[in-house]
Amino acid sequence: MKTIRQYLIEILEEQEMDPKGLSKRLKISEKEVHTHLTHIQRSLKAQKKKLHITPAQCLRCDFVFKDRNRFTRPGRCPKCKEGHLSPPCFKIKSV
Ligand SMILES: [Zn+2]
Repeated sequence: MKTIRQYLIEILEEQEMDPKGLSKRLKISEKEVHTHLTHIQRSLKAQKKKLHITPAQCLRCDFVFKDRNRFTRPGRCPKCKEGHLSPPCFKIKSV
């Protein structure tokens, strides 16, 4: 049996996914996805791999949430105060 984390790593090595997609695929909440990703990010270093994060972006003014080192979707844009945001996306790459 594979653990959720192993499965999560496999998925992200194959394709780029957002928290919502991962939560659906793994049948866990987005909050749990966040917890697993935090642990995975640490353990990947030893395997010479890296979790690449495409930051969330505002779909209205193109503001990019660059400083946001979090895995969850932000609620709204600090610049234009809109809530139309693209989610962050994750992909595991070799270092
Ligand atoms: Zn905005």
